[in-house]
Amino acid sequence: MATVTLTNIRKSFGSLRIIDDLSLDIADKEFLVLLGPSGCGKTTTMRMIAGLEDPTSGDILIDGARVNDKPARDRDLAMVFQNYGLYPHMTVENNIGYPLKVKGLSWAARQPRIAAAAEKVELGALLQRKPAALSGGQRQRVALARAIVRTPRLFLMDEPLSNLDAKLRTLMRAQLKHLQRELATTTIYVTHDQVEAMTLADRIVIMNKGRIEQQGSPAEVYARPTSTFVAGFIGSPPMNLIPGSMQGGSFNHSAGRLNDLPDGLQGDLTLGQRPEDLRLAPPSQADFAGSVFSSELLGDSTLVAVQLGKEIVNVKTGPTEGQVIGAPIGIVFDRAKLHFFDTASGQRVE
Ligand code: ATP
Repeated sequence: MATVTLTNIRKSFGSLRIIDDLSLDIADKEFLVLLGPSGCGKTTTMRMIAGLEDPTSGDILIDGARVNDKPARDRDLAMVFQNYGLYPHMTVENNIGYPLKVKGLSWAARQPRIAAAAEKVELGALLQRKPAALSGGQRQRVALARAIVRTPRLFLMDEPLSNLDAKLRTLMRAQLKHLQRELATTTIYVTHDQVEAMTLADRIVIMNKGRIEQQGSPAEVYARPTSTFVAGFIGSPPMNLIPGSMQGGSFNHSAGRLNDLPDGLQGDLTLGQRPEDLRLAPPSQADFAGSVFSSELLGDSTLVAVQLGKEIVNVKTGPTEGQVIGAPIGIVFDRAKLHFFDTASGQRVE
């Protein structure tokens, strides 16, 4: 079992503060994903948990015990990185078994555990190969096998799938999730890819400039982003964000007006709606009128970008609803799925 607690963590490099008062509890067996744009401090947070970086202040606890002063090798965790870190001169078998060798286990003791780890990631047939003779996906699996071979109490993974092509990434994502459930090992996973975060996580922690912007289950952050930052980060394509002004229950934009909205909302607000909640209609029957900017058939759906004044709004619609670029078109909002944010602060108001 392994829980991780971060309490008031701050980290500066010189005078530059990278992590700003971050507190987080990670539950036993949880798959926690740290998600955020490049430079927001995800990797630094992970490296502090690993013991590869010292926090400037604050405490790191694993299973309730403070580990700030414990070196990485004594924290009993396994890491998987983007570049895999395999030893090129060693066979797959020896790469996988290396952590056990370091612990002083004999070959006889290592061998069955190597075989079991290799089996879990379907590498059994490749044990005698060297990394250069493996595909990217196979190398990635060797790195995973090396992580699981000594049953650590915690997995730390930093963008482990980002060097794989799109198809392999999807496949490995599913394998990784399956493996984590099967091993029931607490996992902290860093990514800037929201699809990866949505599909893998029990809980997503969205970071922005060294702080936690929002955390919750994938369904929660998708359904109710608390800021335009999160709304614009989650979803593919993400939520449409349309700035306008609200007065007397009407939302006004150069492309149209939405009436009969809650009275309490006033001022410069940004209206949010997900592409799949919008519908196309002839301009005369629509809430907002504009023109078709682009139309992309995705196979199971069509993504139509509609130009509304300065904004481009994405509408996800049926596969047969392709549109002619430049043609007049309108959009109709799903009233039950509107989101409102304060334009100045970006914070959710409704
Ligand atoms: P990415 O997705 O690009 O890896 P990240 O969210 O993981 O981004 P970090 O790697 O944690 O971000 O880096 C956060 C910030 O800290 C960046 O601005 C980075 O330049 C800075 N930084 C990281 N390590 C150091 C260091 N050793 N010295 C100085 N600045 C650093």
